[in-house]
Formats: sequence, structure tokens, C-alpha cells
Amino acid sequence: MDISVVVPLYNEEESLPELYAWIERVMKANGFSYEVIFVNDGSTDRSWQIIEELSRKSDTVHGIKFRRNYGKSPALYCGFEKAQGDVVITMDADLQDSPDEIPELYRMITEDGYDLVSGWKKKRYDPLSKTIPTKIFNATARKVSGIKNLHDFNCGLKAYKMDVVKNIEVYGEMHRYIPYLAKNAGFKKIGEKVVQHQARKFGKTKFGGLNRFFNGYLDLISLWFLSAFGVKPMHFFGLLGSLMFIFGFISVIIVGITKLYNMYNGMPYRLVTDSPYFYLSLTAMIIGTQLFLAGFLGELISRNAPERNKYQIEKTI
Ligand code: UDP
Ligand code: MG
Repeated sequence: MDISVVVPLYNEEESLPELYAWIERVMKANGFSYEVIFVNDGSTDRSWQIIEELSRKSDTVHGIKFRRNYGKSPALYCGFEKAQGDVVITMDADLQDSPDEIPELYRMITEDGYDLVSGWKKKRYDPLSKTIPTKIFNATARKVSGIKNLHDFNCGLKAYKMDVVKNIEVYGEMHRYIPYLAKNAGFKKIGEKVVQHQARKFGKTKFGGLNRFFNGYLDLISLWFLSAFGVKPMHFFGLLGSLMFIFGFISVIIVGITKLYNMYNGMPYRLVTDSPYFYLSLTAMIIGTQLFLAGFLGELISRNAPERNKYQIEKTI
């Protein structure tokens, strides 16, 4: 099969028939063999009935129905598990992404050899409250991930080589960072295509609110940390802890020696506990020990993690 289209959706009943008809039109015009996997993320409207109707009319339609709303990442994860096409395309259900982009995305994966092509909504039809924070978000994600050529990490319209979706784990709210996940899994050829974007036709956005930015940044930090120190926490905590401990230890010795020196030479001296340096060194030693312990516990945990010997093997003969 050439293409699997994975569509995560939450309460998008009005858009679905039009979206499917459009995808079908594009696929037929280009002679692709395809499937469309609708992942219904706990919708409370008629979305699931509509998917059932579509699947009765056409055997290219598949559906997964979550019992409750889990989020876009879990929906993508389950869609990816089921996908069978050589190229997997993800697309939002709200008609903001255009199925007309599919042939060119498919060509970039199969002919230009990209592992992943991310859409770039260069001209975006969303309110300013969404577009401005997104610029800052993308600049940070570029820096942290080291994927310098992407303008729009979180675009819903993306194309993947089959291998990519089977070897990354999109969990929590990590759909914002799929290119980074792919890069960490060793897929290096990540490209971008400018795509058409439409204003939302029906319903309203499911990602309003400001907390998505705080959560987004925390996720980015987790990812960075995982990729840098995930399997070797001691290299981070152990180093920091040891340095801190040594610093505290040396300073406490200096405090002690200074006092003894002053005592024997008949100079004025005070109790070590009167010196602020004493407390600073004490704190440094305690924090140092704690950090060291955190690193050690991290090592023990990662040594027992079932994933510890999971490596990305590209080929074997
Ligand atoms: N979505 C989902 N589960 C959720 C929230 C959203 O599957 O919990 C889907 C939604 O139906 C849409 C896509 O994710 O197909 C993108 O959501 P939306 O269009 O609201 O985001 P925006 O385009 O405003 O960033
Ligand atoms: Mg949208």
C-alpha cells in the first residue's frame, strides 16, 4: 500500500464527510493505493457514527475509537501502530490542512529520500493569540533540538517513512516534538514543505489556553534531558554533585584552618558557626550529596528499565 493517512480527531463531526471526500478525490486522481485511519479521541458528538457510515461505504476507511479523550499524541500513537502504507501522512480533521498536499509530500519521501517532511503553515489563518507564541515556541524548539531547518514543529500535516512511525513513541503531549523524537531515534533527513492553511471552518480549536506553553516547554526540557542523560543520569547529577561537594568540603577546611591559624597567632577569631562561609559550605556539601544520590538512583532505575537495551537497528543481513 502506498499511503496511510492518520487523522486524530476530537469532536469534528461537521468536517469528516468533506475531509474524507477530499482525500479520496486526491488519492484517486493520483492512482495511489491508500487507507485512511480515523482515530476518534473520545468525541462526544456524532463523529464516530460518521466514521462508521464512511467505512460502510468504502473499505479504505478504518477507525479506532477511544473510550475517553486521551489527547492528540495517544491518538497518533495508535494510528501509527495500525498504519500499513509505505508513506504515512498525518493530518488534522478540521479541514485546516489540505489533502492536495499529499502527492508532493509522498514524492518528497519516496523520491527525495526524506525520512520525515513537516508542513510549514507559512501563511497561517489562526488568531494572533496562537501565532505569536508559536513563533517563540518554534525558535526554542529549533535551538534545543538542533533541527535548524524547521519553522513549524507542531504542524498537523506531516509525512513519514513507514519506519519512522513504527520506531518512535509519541506519548503525553509529545506530538509537538515529533521531528525531535525522530531525530533522537536516528532519522536524520528531516525536511519541510510550505503548505496551504485554511481558517477553521467548523467548531473551535482544542488547543487554546496558555498552559500549553508551559507544558510545552517542560516537555521540551524533558526530551532534551532524556536524549542527553536519559541512559546515563550519573554523568549529569554525579558530576554536578561531586563538584558541589568538593567545593563545600574545601571551603569548610578553609574556614577551619583560618580559625586555627588566627587562634595560634593570637589574632582575633570567632566561632566557625558565626561565619557565613560555614553555612554556605555546609549547604553545598548537603546539596552535593543529594545530587550524587539522585544520579545514583537514576542509574539504578535506568539499569532496570525494560527499554535499556532497545537500540535503533536499521538493517541486519
Ligand atoms: N485533537 C485530538 N484530541 C484532542 C485534541 C485535538 O485528536 O484532545 C485533534 C483535533 O480534532 C484536530 C487536531 O487534533 O483534528 C488538531 O486540533 P485543533 O485543530 O483544535 O488544533 P489547532 O489547529 O487549533 O492547533
Ligand atoms: Mg486546527
